[in-house]
Order: sequence, then C-alpha cells, then structure tokens
Amino acid sequence: MTRLTAARRARELDALSSRTVDVLVVGGGATGCGIALDAASRGLSVALVEKDDLAHGTSRWSSKLVHGGLRYLATGDVGLAMESARERDVLLRVTAPHLVRALPMVAPLGRDLGRRDGALLAAAHRAGDGLRRLAGTPRAALPAPRRLSVAETVRLLPAVRRTDLRGALVGWDGQLEDDARLVVALARTAAAHGACVLTRVRALSTDGTCRDELTGATVRLRARAVVNATGAWADTLAPQTRLRPSKGVHVVLPAGVLGHPAAAMTVPVPGEPNRWVFALPHPDGIVHVGLTDDPLDGPLPEVPRAQDAEIAFLLDTLSRGLEVPLDRADVIGSFAGVRPLLAGAQGRTADLSRRHAVVRGGDDGAWTVLGGKLTTYRRMAQDAVDVLTDVPCRTAALPLLGAQGPVPRGLPPRLVRRYGSEAGEVAQLAAADPRLLAPVAPGVPVLGVELAWGVAAEGALTAEDLLERRTRLSLVDAWGAAARPAAEAALAGERAGRTR
Ligand SMILES: Cc1cc2nc3c(=O)[nH]c(=O)nc-3n(C[C@H](O)[C@H](O)[C@H](O)COP(=O)(O)OP(=O)(O)OC[C@H]3O[C@@H](n4cnc5c(N)ncnc54)[C@H](O)[C@@H]3O)c2cc1C
Repeated sequence: MTRLTAARRARELDALSSRTVDVLVVGGGATGCGIALDAASRGLSVALVEKDDLAHGTSRWSSKLVHGGLRYLATGDVGLAMESARERDVLLRVTAPHLVRALPMVAPLGRDLGRRDGALLAAAHRAGDGLRRLAGTPRAALPAPRRLSVAETVRLLPAVRRTDLRGALVGWDGQLEDDARLVVALARTAAAHGACVLTRVRALSTDGTCRDELTGATVRLRARAVVNATGAWADTLAPQTRLRPSKGVHVVLPAGVLGHPAAAMTVPVPGEPNRWVFALPHPDGIVHVGLTDDPLDGPLPEVPRAQDAEIAFLLDTLSRGLEVPLDRADVIGSFAGVRPLLAGAQGRTADLSRRHAVVRGGDDGAWTVLGGKLTTYRRMAQDAVDVLTDVPCRTAALPLLGAQGPVPRGLPPRLVRRYGSEAGEVAQLAAADPRLLAPVAPGVPVLGVELAWGVAAEGALTAEDLLERRTRLSLVDAWGAAARPAAEAALAGERAGRTR
C-alpha cells in the first residue's frame, strides 16, 4: 500500500537535492497527476511539485461529470466527442470504476423544450449512444437513451413543473463520486510507480527552481524535462502561452428541496442554444446546480468565489423547470472554478473547444499542457509523455489505487463508494478506536476513519486539506464548520504519533 505522508514528503524532497529525475511535473491537478502516473508507469523517474495541495486548483471545482462528449457533437467536433467517449469508457470500466457511476440526465419536455428542440435533443442522444457503442462501452454500463412518460419523469424528478409537461428525454453519462478523490487516487498511484509527489512546493520557474512553502527555503530540482501542468495558471510559468480562462459557478442545495431526485435534471438556458443548467444529485443528500460559463479577465484569483448574480442566474434558470421556484435561502453552499480554455478562438467561452495541446515553451525547452478537461486527463497525459519517450503508454489498462482487486463486503457503503478496494484498509484504522466509524460531528456524513486515512495515506498536511479536498465537507458551509475540530484532532493525533 502506498502512503503519502508528511514524513515521506520531507524525505523525498531531501533526496531530490542530490539526484536528477527524468521528468519534473509542475501542478498537482488531474492533468499533472495524470502525467506523473503516465511517465512513472513508462519507467521514467518523476517528481511532481504542487504549490498548495493536491487538487487545489480547478480539478476540485468541476461538475464531476465524465462526459461522453454530447455537446461537442452539437458543435460538430466529432473527434473530440469520440475522444471523450473513449476516455469515459476507460474511467468507467478500467481506471476508476469505484469512483464513476452511470447518471441518468433527464430533460423534461414542456414550455422550455418544445417539440422541435426535443426532436433535436433526441437525435443528439442517439448520436451520443452511437459514440458509446464505438467506444466499446456496454449497455450494462450506460443504458440506452429513451423517452419517459409523465409519470416516469415525476418519479425521477419529483419537483418538476407539471404544467405543460409532456414527459422527458433521458440520456446517460458518467458521474464522479468526487473529482478531488480522482486526483488523490492518481497521485498515490503515481507514487506507487515510484513518482515523488511533493505538495506545498512551488515552482518559481521552469528551470527547476522551487520554494518549499512549508519552510520558505529555495530548492533546486534537477530534471531532464519539465512539464508545466498548472492549468489556468500556465502562463505564470510560460508567459508565451495563450489561455482564455472562463469561470464556472455551482450552488449546493439540500436534495429535499428538489424532492430527492433520482436523476440529473437539465433545463435549457432561454435564448442560448446548446446551453443548460443542471441539477446533479450527489450522495449525502445534496444536489449541485451548475453551471455558468463566463470569460474571466484580469489576474486569476487563487480560489474564485461565486457572486450573487451568478447564484441568482442558476436558481432562476432551474426554477423555470420546477413546480415551486427556488429561494436564495435554499442554498447551503457554492463554489466556483476557472476553466483553462485554449485561446485563439472568438465567441462565447461556452462555445470554445475543450481540446488540449502540448506545446514547447521559449528558450527553456519546457513543455506546457494546455486546455482539455477532467474526463480526458489520461489522454492529455499520454500526449504529454509521448513527446518525452518512445516507451508505449500503459495507463489505459492500469487501474488506479482503489480499483485494484475486489471491493470488500460488509463495510459502511460510503467507504466502499469513496475508497473502493481500499475501503477495508480505511475501516481498519478503527480497529483500535471503534468511534472512528462514526460521523465526525452530528449531521455530518464523513466518518472519523476518512480524516485519519487522509492524514495517514493521502498526504493531507492541514485541516483545509482534510475538509476541502480529502473529504468535501467544506462544500456545505455548516458541515465544514462542524467538522473542523475533528480535522484538527486527526492532524494532532498523527503528529503526536510521529513524535512518540
Ligand atoms: C466549473 C467547471 C466545471 C467543470 N466541469 C467539468 C466536468 O464536469 N467534466 C470534465 O471533464 N471537466 C470539467 N471541467 C474542466 C476540468 O475541471 C479542468 O479542465 C481540469 O480540472 C483542469 O485540470 P488541471 O490539472 O489541468 O488544472 P488544475 O486542477 O487547476 O491544476 C493545476 C495545479 O497547478 C498548481 N500550480 C499552479 N501554479 C503552480 C506553481 N507555480 N508551482 C506548483 N504548482 C502550481 C495549482 O495549485 C493547481 O493545483 C470543469 C471546469 C470548471 C471550471
């Protein structure tokens, strides 16, 4: 079992001062961790530096959808749609089946989705299903799209607006349990293949000069190749790269205000073709509602925040499809992220391609990976490492930690959902203290062992790492506040264990 710990970080950082690695990866999001895994699994020596924590950037703020590329079909980008469908298949069936499930996406037919638009959507669903077949994804993994009756629609979406309702169209896509957990699984699997994964180490340039953010010390990491995978921040290290960042906002609602939906609900944005607002049900009784897509000008914030107008847009648009409109008081959390879109195109950021590119920078010879999306992280990593070695890529057949071996029986379902084949080891942390199998605070879904595992195996160094990224407690304001003492206690316990 591979554990990322504070002690391992210190040891590896020290050892790197006297060796040269094949590849230095900058950025600990899905792209950077995917590159570290790809390179390490091809036999290259790898160090990854992340200025903050794993999944600190955009990778934790996604809609958590593993897209089959339906919307790229609508814009005529068949190649990108096919790539998405293939990568969805790899995630669903090989690399992370424990973290990805099939999600029904239901578009009610009625006032805002008339007969003509409904016919177009049904045709898009059929084309998307064709991509599923071409990608080799079996029906058992992603069922067929079809028309739903009014009664079926109401059963799946109890809060749907009944006036004018003519049933719905349902199509299927992949949904991640948690995007940040995918990143952590990638980082640990990379470490299992020998990569050094160093959080709180900031690259100051692409020549290997870094700063240890825990001590303030400058460290020089020597590498034969450097790959800049800093997403929306890529131009801070490679000023010649051109990005067009776009901001996306979600709000979090208690599932009860939507009648505990059993499917995602999609509502068209009036007057904007091919743009939708989604209500995505998640475990633990919450629903994420997204998504805005607006250009972000000026310096990028470290952590973007949702603005009142953006929240109002989401609530108003979704309310068009509901029997009872939503209210600002229904919102229990919100989050925002910045898409690292490729520049060079005109038009709305919502129309810009989610394609990616691997480009070589100026005089320093460093490579930069630009654009893309979470679903295609593996392909982005493959393309990045292909420029460094002739050894063939292995990652399409390489299950991540958590997807290796059978999922144990008889354990709390949320551990199985979030840790897959490692759930038994996580539960084992409660052997000496059975209280760790209870929620960390009243009304909070996370169990004590999850915080303990975050510190013992997943490289969490601060309470924020535990609350914001190893668990997603901070997505609901009240959960984050209630669980903070438990997070601090988990870290203190680990530190005491280390000094004993
Ligand atoms: C609102 C929203 C919804 C989305 N929904 C989806 C979706 O449902 N499905 C999908 O497939 N995609 C989705 N995407 C796109 C997807 O989330 C991103 O394309 C992807 O997460 C980008 O990952 P990344 O690793 O390239 O960047 P990031 O996750 O941003 O990682 C870059 C990392 O680099 C670090 N870093 C920056 N500078 C330095 C430095 N100098 N030294 C060291 N480290 C540094 C940052 O701290 C950060 O952790 C969405 C994006 C947004 C914004």
